[in-house]
Amino acid sequence: MRKSLALSSLLAFGCYLTEAKTYTTKVVILGGGVSGISAALNLTASGITDIMMVEARDTLGGRAQDVPFADINVEFGCNWVQGLGTNPIHELALKYQLRTAVTNGDDVVFYGENGKINATERYNDMNKYYEIMSQDAVKRVQKDQVDLSGKVGLDIAGWYAKDAIDDAVEYYVWDWEMGESPELSSTIFAVVNDQWTYGEKAFGPGSDGDKFVVDPRGFKYVFQEEAKKVFKPNDERLLLNTVVTKIEYSDAGVTVYTKNGDIINAEFAISTFSIGVLQHKDIEWSPKLPAWKLEGIYGFHMATYTKIFMNFPTKFWDDNQFVVWADPDQRGYYNSFQNLNIKGFLPDNSTSNIFFVTVTQDLSYRVEAMTDDEVKAEVMAVLRRMYGNNIPEPTDFKFPRWHSNPLFRGSYSNWPIGELDEHHVNMKASLNNRVFFAGEAMSEKFFGFLQGAWYSGAETAMSVAQCVQGKCSPSEYYEEITNAKLQASVVRNTLLQK
Ligand SMILES: Cc1cc2nc3c(=O)[nH]c(=O)nc-3n(C[C@H](O)[C@H](O)[C@H](O)COP(=O)(O)OP(=O)(O)OC[C@H]3O[C@@H](n4cnc5c(N)ncnc54)[C@H](O)[C@@H]3O)c2cc1C
Repeated sequence: MRKSLALSSLLAFGCYLTEAKTYTTKVVILGGGVSGISAALNLTASGITDIMMVEARDTLGGRAQDVPFADINVEFGCNWVQGLGTNPIHELALKYQLRTAVTNGDDVVFYGENGKINATERYNDMNKYYEIMSQDAVKRVQKDQVDLSGKVGLDIAGWYAKDAIDDAVEYYVWDWEMGESPELSSTIFAVVNDQWTYGEKAFGPGSDGDKFVVDPRGFKYVFQEEAKKVFKPNDERLLLNTVVTKIEYSDAGVTVYTKNGDIINAEFAISTFSIGVLQHKDIEWSPKLPAWKLEGIYGFHMATYTKIFMNFPTKFWDDNQFVVWADPDQRGYYNSFQNLNIKGFLPDNSTSNIFFVTVTQDLSYRVEAMTDDEVKAEVMAVLRRMYGNNIPEPTDFKFPRWHSNPLFRGSYSNWPIGELDEHHVNMKASLNNRVFFAGEAMSEKFFGFLQGAWYSGAETAMSVAQCVQGKCSPSEYYEEITNAKLQASVVRNTLLQK
């Protein structure tokens, strides 16, 4: 890395003068989340140390974020190690002795407008039909049949949500995991994602399980510790508090512009920005991204998953791990509550009583547009319908706004119905073999998960390392993605006939 100070570009910020610098490096990694850290580790392991990392926040870890809440820290972002065995995230959790607890989704109680409901049969049905849907998906792939939305896949398998209770069960099993409704999701890729993460194919025996991180150091700790292997304290190659605003690329290299006036000239760049950030046009590209690339980027989905944390003076809720509210009017309305007052979840010396509720998708956008007090009033109204009017008000109340945050624009990606493998190839394909794309969404097997980010960072670093050594593989993408079925259809006849 070479650094030069452009005196002509001294920028004034308030009464301070900030020196805008120009850097020259071989590889610049854009974003310091899990995939960026993994890319940095793998480039370094390949002997490429002339690298830089640019991160907008004042710390590394990206969506691995915890915040102080009541007398503990809670995870605003990723919370579970999902898929155990040799999952690299599981191995990191073990290596750093991350404190975890076991959640059990079957330990759940359901409430409706008339109080506690026995929804066990429908809950078991939903799980049974999900399994049938998964087997059907395999058969469809064997026969080369088209994908179905999760909704159609489930309905064909035998499930059909008939009332508010079914809606609540379906939301708890599907949306609470995927962050989006079955109507929007792909059946085949939901099954692919599930099998890679929990099946033995990737992570061997014992891979089917989750661990809920309850470590006071936060989930981010393991990633920040790994990053220390690359970046020493005050390492000039790590630019924190630096927001990328523009990326110029050509066959000759990449130039990255930042909000504070810094310029980074690099031979190669690895973008790890979330698919939400790429969709939202938070970064200017020059030249503009080609149509094939945009088709891939815009086709994918960035789901939003919002945990709304509440701490109460006393615990008034059930002892089960999960409590599900079946709202009579709106599917998913403050549906999935989680009880942290289970043995092993809170530290022994904690006096907190924490109950949190998760909302997703449109309900997340809605709460993000409201004030904390407005959201608190709505959640409390639901809790009063479940537990009566005498329950206390929360003493602490907090939730993140992932969708409106310009650094994330959502929580994690979900493969939507209609997105083909080819679209995914285009979404992740490099530009001119100079700008490469990593991040959880770029992992076709593990999208949405931390291991997706981790593997994607590593794989992208390997592709870049080959380029650095002058052995670039040609960038693979589809200039046009065609649908054979349309060729003789009414669509073609209608739209193309003069
Ligand atoms: C609420 C929530 C719950 C989740 N639950 C789980 C879970 O339980 N288990 C699991 O495995 N996964 C979970 N995930 C997903 C997991 O957190 C992500 O897959 C993973 O952290 C993504 O890492 P990444 O490196 O791809 O992206 P990011 O973490 O988004 O990294 C990108 C980085 O780029 C930076 N950046 C963005 N824009 C700019 C800019 N203009 N200039 C400079 N820097 C910029 C960001 O600050 C960020 O640090 C969850 C995520 C959320 C939000």
